[in-house]
Amino acid sequence: MKSVRLWSVRHAGAIGRLHALFIRVAPRLRRSVAWVGPQRVERLVAPAERAIKGLLFDCHMCGCCTLSSTGMACPMNCPKRHRNGPCGGVAADGSCEIDPGMRCVWLEALDGSKRLADATKFAQIQAPADENLTGSSAWVRTILSGNVIVEESTNTNNPPAERVPGALEQACKSGRFVVTAELSPPDSADPQDQLRRATAFRDMVDAVNVTDGAGANCHMSSLAASSLLTAAGFDSVFQLACRDRNRIAMQGDILGAAALGVRNLLAVTGDGVASGDHPQARPVFDLDSVSLLRIARGMRDRGEFASGRRLSVRPDLFLGATINPFAPPFEERIINFAKKIAAGAQFVQTQYCFDLAMFETFMREVRSRGLNQRCHILAGVGPLPSLRTARWMRAHVPGVHIPEQVLHRLEQAADQKREGVRICVELIRALRGIEGIAGVHIMAHRNEHLVPDILRESGLTEERGESSAQRDAT
Ligand code: SF4
Ligand code: SF4
Repeated sequence: MKSVRLWSVRHAGAIGRLHALFIRVAPRLRRSVAWVGPQRVERLVAPAERAIKGLLFDCHMCGCCTLSSTGMACPMNCPKRHRNGPCGGVAADGSCEIDPGMRCVWLEALDGSKRLADATKFAQIQAPADENLTGSSAWVRTILSGNVIVEESTNTNNPPAERVPGALEQACKSGRFVVTAELSPPDSADPQDQLRRATAFRDMVDAVNVTDGAGANCHMSSLAASSLLTAAGFDSVFQLACRDRNRIAMQGDILGAAALGVRNLLAVTGDGVASGDHPQARPVFDLDSVSLLRIARGMRDRGEFASGRRLSVRPDLFLGATINPFAPPFEERIINFAKKIAAGAQFVQTQYCFDLAMFETFMREVRSRGLNQRCHILAGVGPLPSLRTARWMRAHVPGVHIPEQVLHRLEQAADQKREGVRICVELIRALRGIEGIAGVHIMAHRNEHLVPDILRESGLTEERGESSAQRDAT
């Protein structure tokens, strides 16, 4: 089956020409379908479509076909149901984070798209799968409604409201080097367990980013933990993972977070459940992060749910996403970044950066496309506490790339923890020199107490002190 799927990608050009012919002929078939009756036609065509597309593409009959935009690779074969580009966990050899025996669908999609006459369609944002259409014929749908690309609502009756930016948004817009820090919520129902760990960040960072079931492990909810931090005077970033909730629950959480004073939302897809402590759980992946961003922006700017139903008060949120410049397919990473911006991302944080040369290559491409002018880029950094942890992360954390020379430095060090801090400080100093980087996002899991030292040694506390003194003076 897999070999037939790859054959289809290799012959995407010819299949694409057939598809283009079908799109031209489809309107002429509309009257005949109407005359026979759409339901009767559906009963005849759907089984044939299932058999043909099942053989050629491993089709899951989502009813809303993207093949002509995804290089004749079916995105529904992605275990996370990503319809807008790869997740951040693609392995260095191109294999899938969740099913290592499979090549990432998005590597196939990129290959196939280069063989299509209109490769630009690859950059179009695809709507999430529609459960109502599952099992139905995309061919009949195309005949009846044309080559449907479900666009975002164009309702302009309810234009974006004037917004007062929160602390993180203001910091990003100020042009000074921004610092955010990550905090994983506790395995506890005691709010103090969250607040105690956050004290290391007090007056040190612009925002505290609260993970949502990081690594697919269960903790206090990101929504509750973010709102606890907000009430304690931090600007918090509420991470929302598509893995655990459907679009109804996620939109409810967005409203809930905003109602509790949270001003920043980070849309993430989430790691596969198999990597966490509840591998028995059912992964949801109703939306991918691009679709989630688009919906959140619609709630904020048009004041409506994804269904089009109006909100009485909109969530006022600064919208963010994640990018991974260190995992294949590298060419697609830029396209995916641009899609996230088009969907509403105003800031992004990257996966851990341990390879400056690789990041500089990515940033050159970002600058050449002007993406850094449209979105604030926070480079992900963090102290490696030991060689053992570094090796474990390299082997087990999807999408993390740690070069050999970093491992070698840790191996040679008399004090590995101290060396990990030194590497992190050096990276921050170097990142500050890269044009287009707005700041850093520090991930010091279970080593939050190291963050103040890292910031001091990087010279970032002095800069923050100077800018707040300037603010006070004006
Ligand atoms: S995108 Fe949907 S209709 Fe098209 S091949 Fe995949 S599952 Fe089938
Ligand atoms: S690596 Fe990620 S994007 Fe690629 S097929 Fe696997 S889950 Fe999907």
